[in-house]
Amino acid sequence: MDKKVHVMAIGAHAGDMELTCGGVLTKYAMEGHRVTIVHMTPGEKGYSKLNAKEYKEQKIEESNLFASKIGAESLILPYKDGELVADDNTKFSVCDIIRKYKPDIIITHWKNSIHKDHKAVYKIVQDAYFYAAIKSFERDLPAHGIKGLYYAENWEDAYDFKPYIYLDISGAYEKWLDALKCYEFIRLGKEFNYLDYYKALAIVRGAECRKKSAETFAVDALNIKQTLDYF
Ligand SMILES: [Zn+2]
Repeated sequence: MDKKVHVMAIGAHAGDMELTCGGVLTKYAMEGHRVTIVHMTPGEKGYSKLNAKEYKEQKIEESNLFASKIGAESLILPYKDGELVADDNTKFSVCDIIRKYKPDIIITHWKNSIHKDHKAVYKIVQDAYFYAAIKSFERDLPAHGIKGLYYAENWEDAYDFKPYIYLDISGAYEKWLDALKCYEFIRLGKEFNYLDYYKALAIVRGAECRKKSAETFAVDALNIKQTLDYF
C-alpha cells in the first residue's frame, strides 16, 4: 500500500493488542506506516512474584521494548488494572489522544469479553472516537475523524466474535513472534499458553484465506453492508 496511514491499537492491558493484532501492527510498521499502541493500563496485577508497583514498571519496559522492536510507539495511560471505568472522563481522555495523534485506523477489543477492563475499553473507544470526530465537543484540539474501526480476535473476547476482515501477516509473522517474547507473561505462558495459541491461530486464519498466516478482525454491523449493482 503506497499511501501511508496511522494505525492506533487501543488495549486494556500491555500485551493485549500485541498478542491479538501484533502481526498486523508489525506488518504496517515494516512498510513504513505509523503505528501507536495505547495501553489503558499496564496490566500490573495478577503476577504472584512481584507486587503491582514492581510489575507495572516491568510491563512498561516490556511494552516499550515490543514497540521499539517492531518500529511503533507505546503509550501507557494512568489507569489501574481491573479498575477501568467507561465514564465520560476516560472517554474524553481517549478522545483527546485521538485528536492529538490523528490515527486513520483504530483497532480495539471486541464488545464481549470475560474481562471487565476489555469490555470497558470497547465502550470507551466507541464514544471516544465519536467525541473526537464532532467539532461541537469543544476540547483543546480540533476534531479528528478516523476512517476505520476494527476489533481484534482475542480468546478472552471470543463470544459472538465473527472474523470479517482477514489480513495477511506472512511477511511479519517471525518478527512479530520474536517481539512478543519481550513480555515475560507471554514467554512463560503459565496462566495461559499465549504464544502457542496466537501462533497457531494465525496459521489457522492464514489457511482459511490461503495465506501462510493471517489475523482477523470483526467490524460493526453497519460496516458489513455492501452496495452492489449486481451479485
Ligand atoms: Zn487484557
